[in-house]
Amino acid sequence: MENIFKNAGENNSSEEKEEKTLLLDQYNSLKDSYKEIFMEAAFSIRAAIDKFKPENPCTICTVKCNLEKKDIFGDFPVGCAYKDWQVQTLSFLEGEYKQKLKNTYTAIMDKKEDFTCNQCGDCCRLAVSEYSYEQLKQRAYRGDKFSEDFVSVFVPYGSEEEAKNANPEYFETLGNLVEDKTYYYYCPKLKDNLCSDYENRPDICKNFPHNPLKLLPSRCSYNEWRKRIAKIAMLINAKVDIIEFYKQKLG
Ligand code: SF4
Ligand code: SF4
Repeated sequence: MENIFKNAGENNSSEEKEEKTLLLDQYNSLKDSYKEIFMEAAFSIRAAIDKFKPENPCTICTVKCNLEKKDIFGDFPVGCAYKDWQVQTLSFLEGEYKQKLKNTYTAIMDKKEDFTCNQCGDCCRLAVSEYSYEQLKQRAYRGDKFSEDFVSVFVPYGSEEEAKNANPEYFETLGNLVEDKTYYYYCPKLKDNLCSDYENRPDICKNFPHNPLKLLPSRCSYNEWRKRIAKIAMLINAKVDIIEFYKQKLG
């Protein structure tokens, strides 16, 4: 990586404050929008499945269940047209609908190509995981590609203090926001703010950021991409959660 930006540890205090504010703003705007986005996702799924809801099947039904509420989550008997609707719904959500979500997700990830890494080195200097180094190695051993790539470059910081020194603002913001235990890592291949093994860097480096909802260091040039696609990414996230709910209730 080219040494065109100074290390985060060299920031003066007003820059530090600005960086922290930016990170918190990123997080809060996402958090504030989530409830609204979740409702939007729920209504959208509901509208999609209502399109093939049967119309007045009870008028010709011989089972006569006497169920008053003809909701998708009703306890309909076998042979009931609403029961078929439930089966259809599940197959639709798990199939065609989910595929559309996957396509949209691929499209928003492709939009990342419109932006270029500014080579600040922050993602190499401080990486975080919910897993300890041992857990990551076990996951890698069991075939998890991401973990395999991760442990091929990153090593744990000796202490939280060291991790904090690498990027105090990012460290502090993550600490305030993430409730679960977090483990901090760095890549020893970062030398003078340049990747010393650039040609052989693994996919996790080439594809960073991997998650459109991930909180990024404030200097990361992909913040602009993330800002543009955050709403749609959250909508997809919410829809996937809702599909899981439908699966549990109807499966
Ligand atoms: S291998 Fe290179 S690009 Fe990947 S984390 Fe290390 S220094 Fe950064
Ligand atoms: S934090 Fe973002 S801009 Fe900086 S090196 Fe990593 S990917 Fe590039």
